[in-house]
Amino acid sequence: MDFNLNEEQQQYLETVRRFVEREISPRVLSLEREHVFPFDIIKKAWELGIMNLSIPEDIKGYRIDAIASALIIKELSFGDSGISTSAMCNDLANIVIAMHGNDEQQKMFLSPFVDAPLLASFCLTEPGAGSDNSAMTSVIRKGQDGRYVLNGGKSFITNASYASQFTVFCKVGKPTSPFIACVVIPSLQIEPETADVTSQNSREITLPSGGRVTTGKPEDKLGQRLSNTATVTFEDVVIDDAQIIGDRRLGFQYITEVLDYARPMVAAIGVGLAKRALDVTLAYTKERRQFGERICDMPVARETLVEMWKKYELADMALMKAAFMIETGAPDQGKYASLAKNLAAEAAIFCATEGLHLHGGYGFMAEYEISKLLRDAQIIDIYEGTREVQSMIIGRELI
Ligand SMILES: Cc1cc2nc3c(=O)[nH]c(=O)nc-3n(C[C@H](O)[C@H](O)[C@H](O)COP(=O)(O)OP(=O)(O)OC[C@H]3O[C@@H](n4cnc5c(N)ncnc54)[C@H](O)[C@@H]3O)c2cc1C
Repeated sequence: MDFNLNEEQQQYLETVRRFVEREISPRVLSLEREHVFPFDIIKKAWELGIMNLSIPEDIKGYRIDAIASALIIKELSFGDSGISTSAMCNDLANIVIAMHGNDEQQKMFLSPFVDAPLLASFCLTEPGAGSDNSAMTSVIRKGQDGRYVLNGGKSFITNASYASQFTVFCKVGKPTSPFIACVVIPSLQIEPETADVTSQNSREITLPSGGRVTTGKPEDKLGQRLSNTATVTFEDVVIDDAQIIGDRRLGFQYITEVLDYARPMVAAIGVGLAKRALDVTLAYTKERRQFGERICDMPVARETLVEMWKKYELADMALMKAAFMIETGAPDQGKYASLAKNLAAEAAIFCATEGLHLHGGYGFMAEYEISKLLRDAQIIDIYEGTREVQSMIIGRELI
């Protein structure tokens, strides 16, 4: 295994670093306070070519490897993990189309994201089906005209209020069916220039092909407030065969594949956040003096800084290994993806918590970024499979 980055990977790293420095860091606290959806930043990320990492080369015109993808998401998350969650969600929604869609479906459902800065949603979780997604009850049933109709409700859906396309997992025939299908629902295209980025409203979309999609009011969240999250309800949505991806009985396998691909990306979010928490804490403790010396020079405080660095470095190594396993198509990549996600969540929460502690009372003030990082970090241990779910996956593979 070569730890050196190739020229292309290095270029991506530097490009995203500059982007974060110029476009995200100066605005992040005010955008967060005002609860504005940063669609203009997402548009600029799209213009730079650092979104839609999973779209195949023959549609996008270039390929971004798994290691470069991890670096891009990590650096973007150093700027803000909510923005990277929204940006990366396109891949969560689109990778299944790239993996199992036929040529026509890939062109139809992936090209719009190459042509314009659009957002997609990945609709898996339901109110009664979180960690256990096989308990989902959203369902497609065949109507009398032979066409499928989708009904059901999804919860906690990233980008829902701004999504131009929904990738939806649902049962086939009846809610208790063992078969899960993956369907794609293109909707009204929402572009950054015309989107209402301060909207707190629900939206109702009547689809020309039949049926209705309703997104709920944006959720008021503890952290990652720069990503959008809302419920999505599908009512009598007509689904043509061309909207069903792959085999309509193999959705459960596809979910596993998507999450194996995406978990290192969530790990990258955690590692980026952990690094940010470490950096802002180093800067603060080098500046702040008590008892006549800098906080960072006090042995106990320095020990905490060292522990923060160790957690961050270990998580970063696990992330790079997981990305490497994906890039080389290793059969046991899922285990490493889960390991990276667990270590990254732990590093993010540890660095943000201890970092806040080293800021003293100032860390508890909203104007200090560390307080935002502490709020943002919590979700990394939860979405795309909680810590316990990752351990279940690792345990299954070990035994
Ligand atoms: C901000 C945000 C964005 C999200 N984005 C998306 C999205 O875009 N698309 C999407 O589909 N979903 C999304 N989710 C949903 C997310 O993936 C789920 O919240 C997550 O998988 C956990 O499901 P749950 O919330 O129902 O928790 P539950 O499954 O109810 O879990 C509650 C607790 O029980 C524990 N637990 C559950 N089962 C076991 C077990 N067998 N053994 C031990 N412990 C267990 C869990 O670890 C957890 O601690 C998002 C969530 C949030 C908050």
